Amino acid sequence: MNLIARRKDQQQETTTVRVGDVIIGGPQLVVVAGPCAIESYEQLLSTALEVKRLGATLLRGGAYKPRSSPYSFRGKGESGLEILSQVKALTGLPVVTEVMDARDIERIAEVADMFQIGSRNMQNYTLLTEVGKTKHPVLLKRGLSATLEEWIYAAEYIMSEGNDQVVLCERGIRTYETYTRNTVDISAIPALKELTNLPVVLDPSHGTGRWSLVNPVALAGIAAGADGLMIEVHPQPDQALSDGDQSLNFEHFAELMEKVGPVAKAVGREI
Ligand code: PEP
Ligand code: MN
Repeated sequence: MNLIARRKDQQQETTTVRVGDVIIGGPQLVVVAGPCAIESYEQLLSTALEVKRLGATLLRGGAYKPRSSPYSFRGKGESGLEILSQVKALTGLPVVTEVMDARDIERIAEVADMFQIGSRNMQNYTLLTEVGKTKHPVLLKRGLSATLEEWIYAAEYIMSEGNDQVVLCERGIRTYETYTRNTVDISAIPALKELTNLPVVLDPSHGTGRWSLVNPVALAGIAAGADGLMIEVHPQPDQALSDGDQSLNFEHFAELMEKVGPVAKAVGREI
C-alpha cells in the first residue's frame, strides 16, 4: 500500500500543518494549552490569557466532551462554542476543540481553527471521512488501545478524502498499570517519525492522569522528538468539572514552560 502519510526516506522533512498563524511540525515547538472542558467565560478567558502569557500559542477547550460515564459533565455544547469564539476573538489565540459527531462539523468549523478527534473516535470512520472532506486541520488522538498501524490508517481515512492537515497526538494507551490513567508510549513519537511525515504532539495530561507526572513526561516527549505538547490547564484544578486530577494550575504550567526551552534546545528545537 502506498500510504499518503508514509515517510519516503529518513531525510524527508516533517509535513507542516498550519493552524491560524501557528505552524506545527517546523523547528518551533508548539504548546496547546487550556482546560479539559469549557466551563464558563471567566474560566476560559483567565486560562487563555495566562497560557498565552507563558508561551502557549494554541488554546484548547472542549465544548462537546466524550465522558466514560453518561452521568458526568458532558460539556456545555453550543454555549461552550459561543464562549470559545469570544475568548478566541479577545486573545487572538487559534482554538482547538473536539468534534464527536459528524452532524456538528459545520457549526464547530465556524469557531475552531483545528478539529480534535478524540481517542474514543479514532476509529469512527464516518467522522474521519467527513472531517477529511473539510480543509480544517485535524488533531487525531491515538485510540485507547490502537496500534501505530491502526492509528496511521485512521489518519489515512482523513487524508484520502483530500485533507492532508493531520497532526497525530499520543495520549497514552491502556495497559495493565493502574497507578497512571494510561501508559505514555514515548517510543511512539520516534516510531511515528520513522513511519510517517506527519507532525506528532504529546498529551501527557491524559497520558498520565496525574498533574504531578505531567511535566516530567512532557519533557521526555520533547526529548524524544515531539513537535509539540497538549496540556490541560485549569485556574482551580480541584474545582474542575472534568479531569481536575491531571490539570496543571497556572503555577505548574509556568514551571513547565520554563523547563521546555532548555530541553528543546538540547534536541535542536526552539520554543
Ligand atoms: C481531551 O483531550 O479532553 C480528551 C477527551 O482526550 P482523549 O480523547 O485523549 O481521552
Ligand atoms: Mn480531558
